[in-house]
Amino acid sequence: MAHMLTRAYPPSVAPEGPAVYLPFRGEDLLIATDHSLLTTNVMDLTTNSYFLGMWDNVAIITGAIPADASLPEGVQTIGLRALYDHVSEEWWSLAGYAAQIVHWETDHRFCAHCGGEVANEGRTWGKKCRDCGRVTYPPVVPAVLALVHDGGDRVLLASKSGWGKRYSILAGFVEPGETFEECALREVEEEAGIIVTDPVYTGSQAWPFPHQIMVAFTCRHLHGDINIDKEELAHAEWFRYDDLPQLPPPLSLSRATIDAWIASRHLANAAR
Ligand SMILES: [Zn+2]
Repeated sequence: MAHMLTRAYPPSVAPEGPAVYLPFRGEDLLIATDHSLLTTNVMDLTTNSYFLGMWDNVAIITGAIPADASLPEGVQTIGLRALYDHVSEEWWSLAGYAAQIVHWETDHRFCAHCGGEVANEGRTWGKKCRDCGRVTYPPVVPAVLALVHDGGDRVLLASKSGWGKRYSILAGFVEPGETFEECALREVEEEAGIIVTDPVYTGSQAWPFPHQIMVAFTCRHLHGDINIDKEELAHAEWFRYDDLPQLPPPLSLSRATIDAWIASRHLANAAR
């Protein structure tokens, strides 16, 4: 990543000077109709606004506007997935961070322990219960992606109902008490009915739908034939690296994981 956000801790007020505004109406971000990000406070983000930090010398400010707010000329809404086609990967990640903070600030209003009202804790994004004092932090939910290969030129890809002709690698949420590696092996066995080994970490990606962190592994097939869980998958089969079905869109870590494996097979076969 070329740039990094210098996060604002403790959460505070943005300094004067250049800023990028990331206002949300519901799940959608407001951007200019030419698909550039907003550099003026057109939606008057003042009372419900959150300063995320500095990107070089630019303040990053997000917030929520009312669901029925009308938009000024030159401004439109866009879903986060569609935004990926119009901004760099870094800015897309920042918009995802903003979405998660807005979600947290808008939705988390009561203590899960006693039902009391919560208020910002002050030093972090945590919220403290006015009654029992319990502090809760924004949720980050880990999910594992598992690319299963056969040690050679074939990869296991699966399709779910509703995906049409698209195939991807397997995925599942991490259970309490489980490591990422254990999760990868378990998910593959549960969903595809095969035993895999050698989980190797390949990367991670914050996934703001609504607040996952995706953690990717490759695993090698050890034994067993494909026997899918029909509740989870519609179809799964082995594909050669040079004869693949329709794959996930480029923004996802699942696609990046598949692309990296394909490149590794090209290299391995060119070296022969
Ligand atoms: Zn409480």
